[in-house]
Amino acid sequence: MPESLPRELIELRERAERFAVDVLIPYRDGAAAGRTAAAAQAAVREASRAAGFFGMTQPKAYGGSEAGPLALSVVRDTFAGYNTGFDRSLFGPGPGVLAGCAEPVRSRYLVPLMAGEKRSGFAFTEPDDAAHYTRAVPAGGGEYVVDGRKSYVTRGGEADFLNVLVDVPGEGRAVLVIDADAPGVCIERRFETLDGSHHAAFRFDSVRVPVDRMIGRPGEGLPRALGQIGDTRLAIAARAVGLSRWVVQHTQQHLLAPHRSGAALGQREGVRLRYADMRIRTFAARSMVYRTARLAESGANVVNEAIACKVFATEALAELVDAAMDLVGGKSLTVGHPLEALYRIARALCTAEGGADVLRLSLAKGSLDLGKGVL
Ligand SMILES: Cc1cc2nc3c(=O)[nH]c(=O)nc-3n(C[C@H](O)[C@H](O)[C@H](O)COP(=O)(O)OP(=O)(O)OC[C@H]3O[C@@H](n4cnc5c(N)ncnc54)[C@H](O)[C@@H]3O)c2cc1C
Repeated sequence: MPESLPRELIELRERAERFAVDVLIPYRDGAAAGRTAAAAQAAVREASRAAGFFGMTQPKAYGGSEAGPLALSVVRDTFAGYNTGFDRSLFGPGPGVLAGCAEPVRSRYLVPLMAGEKRSGFAFTEPDDAAHYTRAVPAGGGEYVVDGRKSYVTRGGEADFLNVLVDVPGEGRAVLVIDADAPGVCIERRFETLDGSHHAAFRFDSVRVPVDRMIGRPGEGLPRALGQIGDTRLAIAARAVGLSRWVVQHTQQHLLAPHRSGAALGQREGVRLRYADMRIRTFAARSMVYRTARLAESGANVVNEAIACKVFATEALAELVDAAMDLVGGKSLTVGHPLEALYRIARALCTAEGGADVLRLSLAKGSLDLGKGVL
């Protein structure tokens, strides 16, 4: 629980709080004069690197500090609690599906990724009208030939290479690393989602890929991909929890302030009931995230618990923002109001890294068919 952390994590949280106040809030408020949004993101990235937060998601072998799931959850929760919008810039890219990969993928892709010299995209989601799953067929001469489409690669337009989940017919799913500029790789569409993030849809037309670009063996692709998503789901949940705390605090200030009706809104019983619900959901979501992070820290398999956290924390955030908009009233719908921005972000978080319905099905399967998960 956030209350019973070891001393070093309490100190880490205090450092993160000071960083948020001294660096993130001034950048958010434009106090660092004359910077564009992109320049502010770049400046935050450098400041986070200097303060030691950026490397927390990166292995020691690549110059990072390789923080555990609990430390990462503490920092993500803390930063999100200030709702400054710098989430993308605070942490360095982790190895993701490339963790533990062999040569030549290590030198060619993982090392430059960790050094910030190359960017990757995670190509997992297929379009609804796909004729078949993206296939990698052995072609002789030490190559696969890849055909298919991927519909939703975050920052795919800037990626130097893609980690693509493919089906090797008769052998199972695998992750193949494919250069974004390889002949036959084509960006079909670039698009932006309501949370302001940018994505690309890809087509692969007879793309020839050396067999040594496969991570592990066919059949290992899905567990690897799901393992990477599991970490990301806990990260999203920790962020959702911090944002929920921000929503509660923002609403609280509004409820305690004078209101034209004569009494502060917080004096009214109906309003109090709604406010109490916001606190209950935030308390439950935060408790779940810290318990799951502790389980992960102990080496337990937390696939089901990370799903539970992601579904609960993101849905709680979406409900909280909606309730807060009711209580704050019309001004919260103004474009540029922090609740208006959060409304869009919360909706995207509910779907990213697995929509809630599909995750519920995975959780039920994990429990009913595989006997996994704790209560
Ligand atoms: C901000 C954002 C970033 C993203 N980034 C990436 C990325 O980098 N890489 C990537 O690969 N993808 C990415 N995605 C895509 C995301 O992972 C998918 O949108 C998500 O997993 C849902 O898949 P889908 O869109 O194909 O919908 P579907 O899988 O078609 O699901 C739509 C709905 O259909 C129903 N449904 C689906 N399957 C079943 C079933 N078996 N039984 C019952 N009901 C079912 C559910 O109600 C579900 O919500 C991103 C999405 C967002 C919003």
